[in-house]
Amino acid sequence: MAKQEKNFVKEITPMEEDFSRWYTDVILKNELVDYSPVKGFMVIRPYGYALWEKIQEYADEKFKATGHKNMYFPLLIPESLLTKEKEHVEGFAPEVAWVTHGGSQELAERLVIRPTSETIICHMYKKWLSSYRDLPYLYNQWCSVVRWEKTTRPFLRTSEFLWQEGHTLHETEEEAQEETLKMLNIYRQVAEDLMAMPVVVGQKSEKEKFAGAHATYTMEALMHDGQALQAGTSHNLGQHFTKAFEIKFQGRTGKEEFPYHTSWGISTRLIGGLIMVHSDNRGLVLPPKMAPVQVVIIPIAQKKEGVLEKSNELFDKLKAKGIRVELDDDTENSPGWKFNQYEMKGYPIRIEIGPRDIENNQAVAVRRDKLEKETISLDNIEETLSSMLETMQKDMFEKAKAHREAHTYIVKDYEQYKKDLPNKPGFAKMMWCGCRECEDKLKEETGATIRCIPFEQENLGDKCHICGKEAKHMIYAARAY
Ligand code: AMP
Ligand code: ZN
Repeated sequence: MAKQEKNFVKEITPMEEDFSRWYTDVILKNELVDYSPVKGFMVIRPYGYALWEKIQEYADEKFKATGHKNMYFPLLIPESLLTKEKEHVEGFAPEVAWVTHGGSQELAERLVIRPTSETIICHMYKKWLSSYRDLPYLYNQWCSVVRWEKTTRPFLRTSEFLWQEGHTLHETEEEAQEETLKMLNIYRQVAEDLMAMPVVVGQKSEKEKFAGAHATYTMEALMHDGQALQAGTSHNLGQHFTKAFEIKFQGRTGKEEFPYHTSWGISTRLIGGLIMVHSDNRGLVLPPKMAPVQVVIIPIAQKKEGVLEKSNELFDKLKAKGIRVELDDDTENSPGWKFNQYEMKGYPIRIEIGPRDIENNQAVAVRRDKLEKETISLDNIEETLSSMLETMQKDMFEKAKAHREAHTYIVKDYEQYKKDLPNKPGFAKMMWCGCRECEDKLKEETGATIRCIPFEQENLGDKCHICGKEAKHMIYAARAY
């Protein structure tokens, strides 16, 4: 049995040895995903899909609570629509997949598989919108999109990914801006409240903004290895698309006006972030709110009288309390094997219950993030576990935040930063003049990009750390996935 136990850990490459292999081991061994016959496309297996469903449930409820409705648009977009907004087509052209034939017949007009749906949605909005009374349009769709990515990695960057895309229209510029930030804030809750993944929120630079956007806002998370991840974006599209698509409405004064437009998206990338923020060398560590199973009960010496009975009783109690619980009374595998299995799968709490425990009216609980045994009374155990799950959720957020703080550096001297970066990956806070040359230079010389201009600005000096000219913003820079 001891050998069996060791095998689990042996199958996962330690992250200190090779972070990238560690990640791949964790997702494959846990059967979250598998590679598909088409390069860059992934198959999401049930345990992985259950994580996506948690994100969907949480986000969808928040979207609806803020007045949004779901809809669905077709997968294929005519080329003529994609090319209507100039910046948009330039940004997306290099990575779209084309459909050129229907059966053996060449199509009169090529079609793109949606890389995002602004164009087709705007085409329909033009048809539907007539008066200011129809506004705001608050719609969202859950779907998948295809972007022909050069380098891919399951969840983090795939050629097809599942996401939601919100597309709203507003009467005024202020309303559109308010919506853009409101949705970013919902994304922040998805990351921080549901996934226990702290994020820095702010605005993207001109270079990094969405193709066709007036302004892009983002949330950026820091992974275990010190690389950043763009975890969700919300775009104020201004009137770029509504003018290009001639979406007009009759305003309050009777005059024709163009509405203001937003779009926002989060994707299956978030699951990659979840893993790279919380998991360890034994496998997944899932925050309780994300975990498809929160508590697993493992009977010890289950053939002994009363053990299974008590385990089942416990199962019912926890289920009635609304805890997502599983009972593993399989007799093929030893308890030790089971412990390792559920540690790898990241179940937040495991309960061990044997004859001696029952005699003492207790059970042993082990939190996945701490891996310490704790004896708890069977009286009110559902309350105890419920609050343990809550504490664990908070602790995981705090731990991830502490890791981020420990890997956030204030740049004093750019030359020094260049030297330090390979050994000090993480967020670098620095001052920036706002010009493209400095942004390009930073990327070229360090591989780091401007992740965002955070809303929470700090004054770290008057001069751009890169060129020495007058600084406009404090930025977060990092190498990113
Ligand atoms: P965008 O429409 O480009 O702003 O993308 C919206 C969100 O989708 C981004 O913030 C990412 O979180 C996610 N995303 C973009 N590209 C990919 C990709 N290739 N794979 C997975 N997620 C992606
Ligand atoms: Zn500069």
